Amino acid sequence: MCHKCDYAAMLKKSGLEPTENRLRVLEMIGNNIAPLSAEDIFNTIARNHSLNRVTVYRVLKLLVTHTLIDRFSSGGRSSLYGLAPNENHPPHPHFYCRICSKMDCLNPESLLVDTLNLEKTFPGQIDKVEVRIEGVCNNCMKEINIPSKRI
Ligand SMILES: [Zn+2]
Ligand SMILES: [Zn+2]
Ligand SMILES: [Zn+2]
Repeated sequence: MCHKCDYAAMLKKSGLEPTENRLRVLEMIGNNIAPLSAEDIFNTIARNHSLNRVTVYRVLKLLVTHTLIDRFSSGGRSSLYGLAPNENHPPHPHFYCRICSKMDCLNPESLLVDTLNLEKTFPGQIDKVEVRIEGVCNNCMKEINIPSKRI
């Protein structure tokens, strides 16, 4: 749960009317510790509110276009959605498990990505830098009986 982000203000700042559905989707993504699939978002919101899948996809597309959220591909056809970096949330790498297809947000300090040099020399404009680390998550390591690493 994030107490710093004002989701209605974020929508307004991007020129979007803070409708109930947009707020619900943005809040759910913002308050989750890891990126979510459209299916996760739909299933959770649909428990308490009436809305359909098409609306969820439409809202997600809109939020991506307005750079409030980022879309990550998660193998196959599905995508995961996480809050785009903003003043409260610095850019951070993601860990993708190739077995369960879950994605986790890593600490921004866990892997330093220095884009400053690149920005100085790259002739175009850089909008987004995505760092994705792939492997097997701790849960799947247990399930397939690979001894967990002691950290
Ligand atoms: Zn926040
Ligand atoms: Zn896994
Ligand atoms: Zn993240």
